[in-house]
Amino acid sequence: MENNASRIIDIDTIAGPVFLPGEMGYDEEIAGFQTAYTHRPALVVAARHAEDVRSAVEYAARQGLSVAVQATGHGLSVAAEGGVLISTRRITDIEIDPDARTARIGAGVRAGALVEAAAAHGLAPLNGSSPSVGVVGYLLGGGVSLLARQFGYAAEYVRAIELVTADGRVRRLAPGDELFGATLGTGGNFGVVTALELELVPVTAVYGGQLIFDTPLVQRALEIWRQWSATVPDELTSAVAIMEFPDIPQVPAQLRGRYVASFRIAFNGATEEGERLVAPLRAVGGRLKDDLREMPYTESHTIHSDPDFPHAYAATNAMLRELSADTLAALLKVAGPGAPVQAVLDIRQLGGALSKRGAADIALDHRDAKFVVRVIAMPESGAAVPADLAMVREALAPWTIGHSLNFIYGAGAAADEAQTRAGYAADTYARLAALKAKYDSRNIFRLNRNIVPAN
Ligand SMILES: Cc1cc2nc3c(=O)[nH]c(=O)nc-3n(C[C@H](O)[C@H](O)[C@H](O)COP(=O)(O)OP(=O)(O)OC[C@H]3O[C@@H](n4cnc5c(N)ncnc54)[C@H](O)[C@@H]3O)c2cc1C
Repeated sequence: MENNASRIIDIDTIAGPVFLPGEMGYDEEIAGFQTAYTHRPALVVAARHAEDVRSAVEYAARQGLSVAVQATGHGLSVAAEGGVLISTRRITDIEIDPDARTARIGAGVRAGALVEAAAAHGLAPLNGSSPSVGVVGYLLGGGVSLLARQFGYAAEYVRAIELVTADGRVRRLAPGDELFGATLGTGGNFGVVTALELELVPVTAVYGGQLIFDTPLVQRALEIWRQWSATVPDELTSAVAIMEFPDIPQVPAQLRGRYVASFRIAFNGATEEGERLVAPLRAVGGRLKDDLREMPYTESHTIHSDPDFPHAYAATNAMLRELSADTLAALLKVAGPGAPVQAVLDIRQLGGALSKRGAADIALDHRDAKFVVRVIAMPESGAAVPADLAMVREALAPWTIGHSLNFIYGAGAAADEAQTRAGYAADTYARLAALKAKYDSRNIFRLNRNIVPAN
């Protein structure tokens, strides 16, 4: 914890509105999607534009305070206890250039707003499963999109970044700049992004949706999906959530309290071809839900139907070189129905274009991973991260080649360090640590999956 109440002076050098603990507006400004862990900064800056961000970073650096950033709170990894929190949720400008097929977005833009804005021009961003996630935070962690296997990591489509670094400078970065590739994949370690430009793709509709199988069919459906996923084209990206639906009114009545396997399909191709491709999955048996269909891209958020209300969660993940029958058995033994670990399991197929590196040399490794297993627990608010998440990591260790930094939530600084290192190849981490020493030697941007500056 930082003891910095005595250093809260000269805040009138910050351009944007500032809230201190106890003041009206503070609690509202720090609130986010994650309710188990909350930033408790010594002051929060409600940034309206780049200059508010710049002046807040300059202030923090001068006062020797840490800087945390929050757009939506979906990806909170290390909660601030003191220091400066920069809240970017008001920076929501979106400019689409339909001829260049690009979007310039502010730091607070959410995926759903960008999907809508791009769709008006027959275009789409490479967004992930939830429309309420912040686009910048998602891209800074790589971005596994709904069509990830066809297009690769969404961060490969970033064309320009506006970044405020620890020296209080606004830098405009382009591919090839030393900090450009390092910024994409490191989740805010090198500064605060105020805006970025990204390429859009000409996708207006997809075939997809969900197939949900009830408890007796879960194991068989998983095994069929495992084998089937090796046969599908890269234009099809799929995932499965294995979970007990909570018995709450927000869940449709037929699913409440049921332990299910829920397959999520997104296919960028003709509907007839999509129907043909999914036939082996449908053949598993009766479904609790089957809404596979051609849909406008603006409905693609229904493919995962992620919860859209703030709640408490903590998560780890493992990127796997393969998903064998033994891998599935080991996973279900530790975290399946009736197993010791109670968590939502979400397995996403990777591979395809995700295996190929783009020209910008972004900081994303483990390109040979074929699947990522996410393990999401629901802790009590403020509770320690459940120890049983580590049990799942151990069970999957024989197949694990690393971790995806976008899918670690609420783990806190200590728990994060080993997983952060395991997010990169050793030489990448060393290169990033050297850059961190050059651009943020005092590590003011440490409230994230932190890369420790090299000595
Ligand atoms: C329900 C749900 C679904 C998800 N689905 C996917 C998915 O399909 N694919 C995928 O790849 N990921 C997915 N994620 C992960 C998500 O992309 C990350 O959690 C991401 O960090 C969220 O960004 P945010 O801005 O919404 O969250 P925030 O908590 O506001 O930010 C998360 C972190 O990002 C960094 N950050 C955010 N904005 C800035 C900025 N302007 N400058 C510098 N650093 C910044 C900070 O380190 C911050 O702590 C999902 C997460 C959730 C909770």
